[in-house]
Amino acid sequence: MTDCIFCKIVSGALPCAKIYEDDEMLAFHDISPQAPVHFLVVPKKHIATIMDCTGADSGLLGRLIVCAQNRAVELGLGEKGGRFIINCKEHGLQTVPHLHIHVLGGRVMGWPPG
Ligand code: AMP
Ligand code: ZN
Repeated sequence: MTDCIFCKIVSGALPCAKIYEDDEMLAFHDISPQAPVHFLVVPKKHIATIMDCTGADSGLLGRLIVCAQNRAVELGLGEKGGRFIINCKEHGLQTVPHLHIHVLGGRVMGWPPG
């Protein structure tokens, strides 16, 4: 999608602080970190929101979560954990309409979310 900021990062048209890349996924540090560790994992395929996924995306969604978990371990979150978040649309305060999972760690998170 030409006007999607994460598609532009995937294509290399915009820079990112890359953590990991394979044929299907890209992980990079969030530009506005909300915790000592805060990165995003995006599928390279443009899917606007989690609500747009179907059963056909089950494999991709599983690999997205496993990719996020593997990167979290690599960045030192394996022992104490953290937060894996997918914001969705207006009520979820999703600001970039390209599916992504946030991974935050390095401190205790708050609950419930505001
Ligand atoms: P969300 O609000 O769930 O859609 O999350 C979008 C996230 O993308 C926010 O945490 C932003 O700080 C982050 N973000 C926006 N632009 C960039 C960028 N160019 N590089 C890295 N992270 C970004
Ligand atoms: Zn996109």
